[in-house]
Amino acid sequence: MLTTDPYDDDHLRDECGVFGIYGHADSSALAALGLHALQHRGQEAAGIVTYDGEQFHAHRGLGLVSDNFSNKDIIASLVGHSGIGHVRYATTGEVAIRNVQPLFADFEFGGLAICHNGNLTNSYHLRRQLVRRGSIFQSTSDTEVIVHLIATSLKETVEERMVDALRQVEGAYSLVALTQTGIIGVRDPLGVRPLALGKLGDAYILASESCAFDIIGADFVRDIEPGEIITIGAHGLKSLKPFGRHRRRFCVFEHIYFARPDSVVEGLSVYDVRKRIGAELARESSIDADVVVPVPDSGVPAALGYSVESGLPFELGIIRNHYVGRTFIEPTDQIRHLGVRLKHSANRGHLAGKRVILVDDSIVRGTTSTKIVDMVRNAGASEVHMRISSPPTSYSCFYGIATPERDKLLASRFDIAGMTKFIGCDTLAFISIDGLYRAMGEPARDPAAPKFCDACFTGDYPIPLADHDAGKVSTQLSLLSETI
Ligand code: AMP
Repeated sequence: MLTTDPYDDDHLRDECGVFGIYGHADSSALAALGLHALQHRGQEAAGIVTYDGEQFHAHRGLGLVSDNFSNKDIIASLVGHSGIGHVRYATTGEVAIRNVQPLFADFEFGGLAICHNGNLTNSYHLRRQLVRRGSIFQSTSDTEVIVHLIATSLKETVEERMVDALRQVEGAYSLVALTQTGIIGVRDPLGVRPLALGKLGDAYILASESCAFDIIGADFVRDIEPGEIITIGAHGLKSLKPFGRHRRRFCVFEHIYFARPDSVVEGLSVYDVRKRIGAELARESSIDADVVVPVPDSGVPAALGYSVESGLPFELGIIRNHYVGRTFIEPTDQIRHLGVRLKHSANRGHLAGKRVILVDDSIVRGTTSTKIVDMVRNAGASEVHMRISSPPTSYSCFYGIATPERDKLLASRFDIAGMTKFIGCDTLAFISIDGLYRAMGEPARDPAAPKFCDACFTGDYPIPLADHDAGKVSTQLSLLSETI
């Protein structure tokens, strides 16, 4: 059976976190800690591959980092001064171990392990060509397309082969690879997904977010530049920019929801951006109310910003149970509804008789908002005003954030009045796209040259969608049926 997205069953998407380390005796333990800090980026599976100068060592498994890397013997078996690791998001109802990264392959030049955060938009086409030329795929992950392109390249060195391979792929990717000579980090030419460089003593580190440096006491050095390939080895650090100049289009949704608030990405504190969005939202759509309540956890910084700007008190009127996975993990609608109730509960004393402003980061299908509004009303709130710290999500993401097909997005089905009715709140308002840009330090969105990828809100897709436009799925054909 194909591994598919649970919402639209025709699209596999990977939301992930990547980590790499070169030059430390405890590389596997540090990688496990780094992945632990990146756990919010992926809870479906985790894996680490290390290299000890002679051999590669790998451990991969389904589940959380703590499920797979708490055992001292496992960490001790991952010998070596260099290593890479990966956490993968639960976007699939059916999970296959063969898709767990890092992927590993033996090439003419030696072994290579690779992991990827993002989504290729022409992988169906590339995969077909490769299969026609004799490539035999082991997984359904689009990362394996990159592995085969490296394998079939006629170039000499691993870096040249990597460049050769990446010239053929389209999409969003932050890659971390492990070779017999070091580690390699790559960001796609537009820099849609994040990747940063850190240092711990003499060791170099690559990670999706700076929170992975903080957990191990490493220093943040800089973001990897869009289109940059950085090789780290005995030679030190080497930077290549083989893809020419492009305007950067970092994913705005990383700031809104996906990245951890204590991370600094692309020079901006995620927490501060979210607070500023809340303040903008208060200015743009103020309303008389008694209390500002976040939908935890993702709505908290924006609600704080809203409260400070509006002068209305901030209260934790909803309490989140941290031992339930994110709603998006649940594979069926029925369970997803149940998941929302399991996850949040009303703090009645701060809701009863109050006019409540509820702040959340986004509305996707509307499931969460509907349940939360119902819960807040049942707790006795006299009015419920929903404020959302992103513009309406009207378009699907094809660059690595799991979103359902367009027709399942609430904002593509209804206008504001329709959404308000669907959710059952008294009023509903979203931050404007210009307000969002202002919160990120821009005067407004320049439609001729937007600074971010905001395709989910504007439909302005900066990277061609070859597979999608051709009506092709970007998952790959497989004869294997593997479920865990
Ligand atoms: P929904 O219930 O479908 O409207 O989803 C909205 C909720 O899911 C919000 O509370 C968001 O915090 C959260 N959310 C938004 N985008 C994602 C995503 N790509 N993955 C997981 N959760 C998300």
